[in-house]
Amino acid sequence: MSRISRRRAIVSTMATALAAGVTANSQDKKMSKSATWDSIVIGAGVFGAWTAWYLRKAGRRVLLLDALGAANARASSGGESRLTRGSYGSDEVYTRFALNSLSQWKWLSGQSGLPVFHPTGIVFFFQKREAYVDQSLEVHRRLQLPTQELDRAALERRYPQATWKDIEVGLLEPGFGVLMARRAVQTLVGAFVKSGGEYRVAAVKPPAADRALSQVELSDGTTVSAGNYIFAGGPWLPRLFPRLLGQRIFVTRQEVFFFAPPAGDARFGAASLPGWADFNDGDIYYGMPDLEGRGFKIAHDKHGPPIDPDRGDRVASPGALADVRAYMARRFPALANAPLNEERVCQYENSSNGDLLIDRHPTADNVLLVGAGSGHGFKHGPEVGRYASELLTGKLKTVEPRFSLETKAEQQNRAVH
Ligand SMILES: Cc1cc2nc3c(=O)[nH]c(=O)nc-3n(C[C@H](O)[C@H](O)[C@H](O)COP(=O)(O)OP(=O)(O)OC[C@H]3O[C@@H](n4cnc5c(N)ncnc54)[C@H](O)[C@@H]3O)c2cc1C
Repeated sequence: MSRISRRRAIVSTMATALAAGVTANSQDKKMSKSATWDSIVIGAGVFGAWTAWYLRKAGRRVLLLDALGAANARASSGGESRLTRGSYGSDEVYTRFALNSLSQWKWLSGQSGLPVFHPTGIVFFFQKREAYVDQSLEVHRRLQLPTQELDRAALERRYPQATWKDIEVGLLEPGFGVLMARRAVQTLVGAFVKSGGEYRVAAVKPPAADRALSQVELSDGTTVSAGNYIFAGGPWLPRLFPRLLGQRIFVTRQEVFFFAPPAGDARFGAASLPGWADFNDGDIYYGMPDLEGRGFKIAHDKHGPPIDPDRGDRVASPGALADVRAYMARRFPALANAPLNEERVCQYENSSNGDLLIDRHPTADNVLLVGAGSGHGFKHGPEVGRYASELLTGKLKTVEPRFSLETKAEQQNRAVH
């Protein structure tokens, strides 16, 4: 066999394996080290995977790389589940992103053997009628969302498994619900590979220069090159671009707990309880019903201390456990002493105010930066991917100021909830 036909045979074997959904890692050692793609996406979390998907849909040759694997346990997208909701106060840009993403999540659900989207509905409730309530309702009316306002009596009638005596008003969003995060991203990467995209487990070294990139170096010393590069490294972005993002993305430790409802008690399952969030004067607690037998999920949305995504340990603190137990005793008294099923430690990669980052690198004009999910980014994954790909294909000419690097300050002042 000549060298050329041997190479063709390898490429054809690889394409067949990828089309069959085999992960690329078993094949990638055979890849030509000098191969060139239109785009290389670094990071197969929710943002990178959707960006790769949309670029592929636009006919681009795309290589998707992840250092630890798609939606791995240390990635922000590696958790079990994420809420999707349309209430964002007056921040209509995020209501629109969440709403437009929903049809893509439903499509992805159809690609997976198991649900990616659970249409549980979402109830967001408030101790007092915050401006946020009327602003959300106003935006939802304009976008023709069927959001319902519930007073305390209605909340008590619908959800007697919770106590509502301190609550004035709730917003019920029947069309939204819960996304199965890890499953979603891994299903999407499978679909991306089946559509002809290439995926490899490989770590990209931080680019050395602040000018247009001709290639990136991998941790094994090889290089890969493309016309443009999308860095969607989530909480690792500050490490990839320390001078640019080291002070603009704040990575915080977040703790999540799953509790076992009483045996035979269906009140905390998805048929009786929607996904929920307690506004709590801006100091939000949120949770989800017992989905797929994992348990009732709860977390305090408050930013934790800084964490290193590579080295930070993943054992929850006794303080955080006590905090959510105290909350459950107040709000869901039947769960006050529920046994703990599981704990997870993850991280938020926060911008100064909670706005997403989707913008070109200021000096390396073939580099796009995508990240700063800020604890609410997962639901927006499809729209982030579409937006990023349209910036690269030229369909979008300007960057929405809310997503620009310029608007990312070096002091934290959280404003997006
Ligand atoms: C506890 C918790 C609860 C949350 N709840 C919600 C919620 O209810 N609703 C919601 O919408 N959002 C929620 N979020 C936010 C959401 O999960 C994140 O905004 C989103 O997952 C961020 O995705 P990402 O793709 O930017 O980053 P990641 O998922 O972290 O992906 C980045 C990827 O880049 C890879 N990578 C990094 N560096 C390199 C390198 N040098 N080379 C190659 N690969 C690299 C990593 O391995 C990783 O897989 C929550 C987050 C957490 C932590």
